[in-house]
Amino acid sequence: MTDDFDSKEELMEEEERADKKNHTEYENFCFLCRRPESQAGKMIELPNNIHICSDCMQKSFDTMNQQMSSGKINYSDLMNMPGISMIDLSNFRNTAPQPKKIKKKNEKEEKKPALDLKNIPAPHKIKATLDEYVIGQEHAKKVMSVAVYNHYKRVATDTMDEIDIEKSNMLMIGPTGCGKTYLVKTLARLLDVPLAIADATSLTEAGYIGDDIESVVSKLLAAADNDVEKAEHGIIFIDEIDKLAKKKNTNQRDVSGEAVQQGMLKLLEGSEVEVPVGANSKNAMVPLTTVNTRNILFICGGAFPDLENIIKERLNKQASIGFYADLKDKYDNDPHLLEKVAVEDLRNFGMIPEFIGRLPIIFTLNGLTEDMLVKILHEPKNAILKQYQKLLALDEVKLDFEDDALKAIAEKAMEKQTGARALRAILEEYMLDIMYEIPKDDSIGQVVITGDYIRGTGGPRILLRGQEMPLLEGHA
Ligand code: ADP
Repeated sequence: MTDDFDSKEELMEEEERADKKNHTEYENFCFLCRRPESQAGKMIELPNNIHICSDCMQKSFDTMNQQMSSGKINYSDLMNMPGISMIDLSNFRNTAPQPKKIKKKNEKEEKKPALDLKNIPAPHKIKATLDEYVIGQEHAKKVMSVAVYNHYKRVATDTMDEIDIEKSNMLMIGPTGCGKTYLVKTLARLLDVPLAIADATSLTEAGYIGDDIESVVSKLLAAADNDVEKAEHGIIFIDEIDKLAKKKNTNQRDVSGEAVQQGMLKLLEGSEVEVPVGANSKNAMVPLTTVNTRNILFICGGAFPDLENIIKERLNKQASIGFYADLKDKYDNDPHLLEKVAVEDLRNFGMIPEFIGRLPIIFTLNGLTEDMLVKILHEPKNAILKQYQKLLALDEVKLDFEDDALKAIAEKAMEKQTGARALRAILEEYMLDIMYEIPKDDSIGQVVITGDYIRGTGGPRILLRGQEMPLLEGHA
């Protein structure tokens, strides 16, 4: 009986096998344990006609998991294993949001002042370095040097609780292109602190379209490579601050003006702000970190158009009272009118008193004169002319500018009324042909830009190699 049964079973198996053979001709074998599909169960099919039974697949995953967690194999080994290349994990890495790393605050270092008092350059040294880059603006440079020195002294001596030195936030007033941003940038580079530059016009009250106010802090954090401690000693420059002035005669809610001034009060004074790391706005995918703005130096800048009229009105009113009554047009052509700015004038301009109160250092910058523009062209360490000279020197060609050419460029820049910003655009226009033609001809040794070339009444002077003239004094 049993024999019979066995043979029946074998017969059925035989039949089944024959069935399969009919279907696929050959049976599949597991690539790893060599068992046939009939024994090992359904196979997993991989490229190159490789089959693996589910037991072996499970085993390999288990060993890989173990080895990866113990560090014995790495990601690239994994990719070389048969079949695994089908799932290219790098694709997932690109699409999945990668949380940015936040550098932890160093608890030990926090107790020590990050900026050593002795390492803060003295105000005269700060100014001397600024002098190398910024032309004129003597008063502004002096005020800033002292303010920055005091600010970082205050940061360094954080333990002096009894004498709470006020924060040296600044407000700089000056026409466009006179070097406000440039001064701050140079200062931050000199002090080796992170700097964030924001535009007040892009800020709105939280919840409205536009960047919310705290985005300036997250910009600073990005500038500090997400190092919270570094960011907390940085500088935030907010340009076009005059655009936040209270709008007159309006019943609408002023979400981008007065409300932003209100919103900034806490930041200016010092508060803990939760900012997203590596993004401009808070959302569920971005980690948050806390930055304290107590030691961040805020510098606001603006052109404040029409402020002169407000100052004039106030001065005239004062002058017409009592014994000191004066001529009404006394201040009409006063070039130093802006320097006489008082908090009262800024309030009349539309800045709220609490806001101005948190910017204790107010100073003005002068509009650039033609002489200053000429100096800006060739005197600073990284002057535009020096940059062009260096470029042409790479082709072994000397570039020189006649004094008259510098004057002509400055005249043209004055017409544009955008301060020193116009200089580069003008130079670019005239240098284009020269930069295009010079590399064509190897025999050219020197190019002299003449005043006539800039005024359109002549061309540049081209000298061949061996005929070069000594460079004109001061422009080398
Ligand atoms: P704004 O006052 O509008 O912020 P910027 O500081 O952006 O003007 O000035 C524009 C550019 O003009 C600067 O990048 C800098 O190269 C040049 N510049 C402006 N003022 C000066 C200056 N006093 N000395 C040297 N360069 C200057």
